Amino acid sequence: KAKSEGRGTYHFFEAGMDATLQRRRMLETGLHDALANEGLSVLFQPIVSLETDTIVAAEALMRWEHPVLGPISPVEFIPIAEETGIIHAIGGWILDAAAKAAAQWPQHVRVAVNLSPIQFKRPDLIATIRSALETAKLDASRLELEITESLLLEDSQSNLDLLLAVRGLGARVAMDDFGTGYSSLSYLRAFPFDKIKIDRSFMADVATKADSRAILGAMISLGQNLGMTTVAEGVETAEQLAVVRAEGCTQVQGYFFSPPVDGAAMVAMLDAEKSSLGRRTA
Ligand code: C2E
Ligand code: MG
Ligand code: MG
Ligand code: MG
Repeated sequence: KAKSEGRGTYHFFEAGMDATLQRRRMLETGLHDALANEGLSVLFQPIVSLETDTIVAAEALMRWEHPVLGPISPVEFIPIAEETGIIHAIGGWILDAAAKAAAQWPQHVRVAVNLSPIQFKRPDLIATIRSALETAKLDASRLELEITESLLLEDSQSNLDLLLAVRGLGARVAMDDFGTGYSSLSYLRAFPFDKIKIDRSFMADVATKADSRAILGAMISLGQNLGMTTVAEGVETAEQLAVVRAEGCTQVQGYFFSPPVDGAAMVAMLDAEKSSLGRRTA
C-alpha cells in the first residue's frame, strides 16, 4: 500500500518519525563516520594531589562534534556506542590517543581512561590495553582505568578475572562516580579498586551543610580504611577545596583547578608547573 502511494508518503513518514529516533539514527551513523574520519578528539583534565599541590594525573575525556548537530556530550553518545557495539572501537581509539599523549608528559604524571562495562564483554580488552601501551611506549604503571559502577558489570568471576588481569599488567583501577550507584559498597567488596572517585554530586553543598560534609567525610574515611586513594570530582570553588582538604582527601579534580583542556594546553600546564617547581627549589 505504501508503495502505491509513492514518494510523498515516504517523506510524510520521515517527517512524522519521532524526532528522538531521527537524532539517534544520525548519531549512530555519525559515530561510525567520526571513527573512520578522525572526527573524535580527546581532552585532558588535570587531577591534583592535595599532598603536593601538583598535577599527578589527567583524565582523558572524549569529545565529538557532529558535522550537522554540533558538539555531542559523551553522556549522550557513549550509551549509543554501547548499544551499537562501536564502544569497543572508540574505546580502543581513546586508549591509543591517551597513551600517546601521556608518553609526552613527565614520568610521574599518569593518564586515566574511562572504560565502559561493555568493554569487559570482550576478552581482547587486555590485548587492546597492552597494545596501546606498547605502541606509545608508555609504562603500564602510568595508566589508570576508571570504571563506573553499573548493572552491566556484574560481580561475575569473568569480570573479576579481567580486572585482575588489568592490574596484572601494572595499571591501576579506579571506581568512578562513587556513591551514585545503588550497590557501590558491595562493588568495593567484589572488585579490587586502587582508587575511588567520589561523584561530583556530593560536592554540591559540602561547604554549607553539615550533613553533606559528614557524608563526604565518611566516604573519604572509607577509602582510606580500605587503603585506596580518594579523589573528589567536581570541585568548583575554594570553599569546596578547603572542605575536601580538611576531610583528608588525597586528590581533587574539577573546574576550580582546570576544565578539560586539549593536549597542547595540558603539556603547557605541565611545563609551567615544572618551571615553577624549578624556581621553588632553586
Ligand atoms: P566522568 O568519567 O565522571 O568524567 C567527569 C565529568 O565531569 C566530565 O564530563 C568532566 O568534564 C566533568 N567535570 C569535571 N570537573 C567538573 C566540575 O568541576 N564541574 C562540573 N559540573 N563538571 C565537571 P564529560 O567530559 O562531559 O564526560 C561525562 C561522562 O562521559 C564521563 O564522566 C564518563 O562517564 C563518560 N565519558 C567521557 N569520555 C569517555 C570515554 O572515552 N569512554 C567512556 N566509556 N566514557 C566516557
Ligand atoms: Mg571518569
Ligand atoms: Mg566521574
Ligand atoms: Mg560520570
